[in-house]
Amino acid sequence: ELPAADGDAYDYLELLTDEQAEVAAQVNRFMRAEVAPIMNDYWSRDEFPRELIGKMRELDLLRRIWNEDGTRRPDAAMMEGVITLEACRVDVSTAVFFGVHSGLAAASIALGASDEQKARWLPDMLDLRRIGAFGLTEPEGGSQVSQGMRTTCRRDGDGWVLNGEKKWIGNSTFSDFTVIWARDEETDEVRGFVVEAGTPGYRVEKIMGKIALRMVENGHIYLEDCRVADEFRLHATRGWDTVSDVLGLARSGVAWQGVGCAMGAYELALAYAQERRQFGKRIGEFQLIQNHLVLMLGDVTAMLGMVMRLSHLADEGGLVDAQASLAKVHTAARCRDVVARAREIFGGNGILLEYGVAKHFVDTEAIYSYEGTNEINTLVVGRAITGLSAFV
Ligand code: FAD
Repeated sequence: ELPAADGDAYDYLELLTDEQAEVAAQVNRFMRAEVAPIMNDYWSRDEFPRELIGKMRELDLLRRIWNEDGTRRPDAAMMEGVITLEACRVDVSTAVFFGVHSGLAAASIALGASDEQKARWLPDMLDLRRIGAFGLTEPEGGSQVSQGMRTTCRRDGDGWVLNGEKKWIGNSTFSDFTVIWARDEETDEVRGFVVEAGTPGYRVEKIMGKIALRMVENGHIYLEDCRVADEFRLHATRGWDTVSDVLGLARSGVAWQGVGCAMGAYELALAYAQERRQFGKRIGEFQLIQNHLVLMLGDVTAMLGMVMRLSHLADEGGLVDAQASLAKVHTAARCRDVVARAREIFGGNGILLEYGVAKHFVDTEAIYSYEGTNEINTLVVGRAITGLSAFV
């Protein structure tokens, strides 16, 4: 018998340490007990359930990844991976809430703040007592933001004045602050700022009408002569390189999202195929349905092997950016295929929220586009393997 009900046909997850396996089991229980019963309701209302934050605090997940001084735990990437995997099996939005707060906002502070600033912000972030967001993308485009950032900062006396717009900023409708990246009007250098909710000149509008990740709240941020003190500028950034380092760390997490989303869809489809009857048989008896399931299992198993090695490399300090991009491109694309097959196995029920698979099907579309679109990550890998850049 293949141990494949959860999509892990080669027992990759047996390779986790006891602590990693325990965290995976905790997140799995949390997702099934606390998130699954409410997620469809919140998803339908385009709302993130704030009550989950307090409940998630009890799991103490960020401290499995980060130390208070902003350094990473020795197995941070693997921990981040298994947390993401187990969350996405049930609900990708929950993983995105966590990923934005930990992998993007806390990471910006860990990599870009001075020691004093880290001591001020990180402990509360690790305890989920203050929630962060990450504001990089702009309405005019995400792919080119490293070259064409329009949001600006200007030194003004003992502070800074920010102007511009940011689009798609996850968590920003309820976060305590957003890390805003802006281009210095004078020097052109990219700088990071912690802009607290309620700061005059900072306004967030919730983006409505999404067809994917509807439980994530994404904001459109307007900065109009928004004044922040210099102590809210991240003091240890190295221009765009810091942004790039943050995105590099987060990209591995997004690769795991594709795997978790695909595994969740596979699990649901397998169970459905074993129950649903047509023509007097369970549909899992039909060869065409078995073909779908086997292709799906091959994909999720290969994807899981890929991201586990990716995180090992990251934790060993030997990961290069193109490896994270390759995993992101590959898992997002395979996930798209797996969720489409899963949705097909459900027939008409595949487009009903209550059967679960529809949410995986549409959420994949967001995974496909953020953290570098499929094309951009492809070009990053293409440049690495050919030595020729398509960007210039
Ligand atoms: P564009 O950059 O306009 O791209 C449009 C198309 O052109 C894409 O297919 C792209 O691949 C293609 N393209 C662009 N350049 C090239 C090229 N050189 N060669 C070939 N093709 C090219 N951003 C944040 O800062 N913070 C967040 O919290 C955040 N959360 C998000 C959550 C969701 C649900 C989504 C959908 C997005 C989020 N984003 C966030 C933004 C995300 O990172 C961007 O959507 C992404 O970078 C793509 O940018 P864009 O949407 O502006 O597409």
